[in-house]
Amino acid sequence: MESAYTLAGRALAQRRTQNQEEQERRRNQVLKADPTLSELEARLAQCGTALARCVLENGKNYETIQAAIQKLQGEKAALLRRLHLPETYLDDIYTCPLCHDTGYNESGGRCTCLKQLISLYVSSNANLTEYMKEQTFDHADFHLFADQPSDGGREVLPCIKKAYDIARRFADTFDTSHANLLLTGSAGTGKTYLSSCIANHVLSRGKTVYYQTAFQLFDLLEKLKFGRCDGDEKEGAEYTAQYIYDADLLILDDLGTEFISAYSAAALFDLINTRLIREKSCILSTNLTPAGLEQIYSRRLTSRLMGNYTVIPFVGRDLRMRKFQNG
Ligand SMILES: [Zn+2]
Repeated sequence: MESAYTLAGRALAQRRTQNQEEQERRRNQVLKADPTLSELEARLAQCGTALARCVLENGKNYETIQAAIQKLQGEKAALLRRLHLPETYLDDIYTCPLCHDTGYNESGGRCTCLKQLISLYVSSNANLTEYMKEQTFDHADFHLFADQPSDGGREVLPCIKKAYDIARRFADTFDTSHANLLLTGSAGTGKTYLSSCIANHVLSRGKTVYYQTAFQLFDLLEKLKFGRCDGDEKEGAEYTAQYIYDADLLILDDLGTEFISAYSAAALFDLINTRLIREKSCILSTNLTPAGLEQIYSRRLTSRLMGNYTVIPFVGRDLRMRKFQNG
């Protein structure tokens, strides 16, 4: 997936092209109505060159040339007025007057317009994969679970139906409940699938959602922390690092599969804890049991999870593998 920074850069380039095309269209329109514009423009260009040379060579005609330019600009404005057009009609067009659509201010820093575009792209795509975007509660199909043998004494179909009900209620009461879910179970048992159903439901209600695997999250945080990215990549990473705190719903997938450093563990605790304090919902999924989580992270984190998250156990066989085997 392309980074938000790349998408923002492309949007700026598109703005520049559109503005240039509009300027060209206006010029042709005026030329058609009054062809003397062309001569005025040529004389203005000549004067501009002469003025530049004058400055470089410390010439004496500076004021004369400037007066000539002012006179020509007056004539151009009069021409536009005669056509009932504003005097600025042929000026350069910029969507952002601050940076002239370059995205950078004079000191080389990112302009507000570029920052806004990046945050827009970070927030709008929710980082869901194409597969995830297709999953909805209405399309839920339980037949794959129907003929599975029980798993550790648990019947698979009732388990997934119960998980579905809890997920559905979580999505329906998202605005008011500030609930959190911890989905546990082996790979391919439906955790990401149900997370996707919730994500799409919540997105359709105008809420912001961000999905990330734990591996991606810690990779991002470590890169930022240890300065392993710079320039464009750093800009995008900083927005994402902020957005995981701000999004209405954060989905953190595959917890426990990533490499854990002391820094990662502390960062995860801060993220989970801050979101709890701000009453922003979270869905975590893991192949580990709560005891396994405690071994990898800390008792402090697991006790936060156990106290504030509804645990949904997933059981059964790896459906991804089964689909693959069935072709
Ligand atoms: Zn700007």
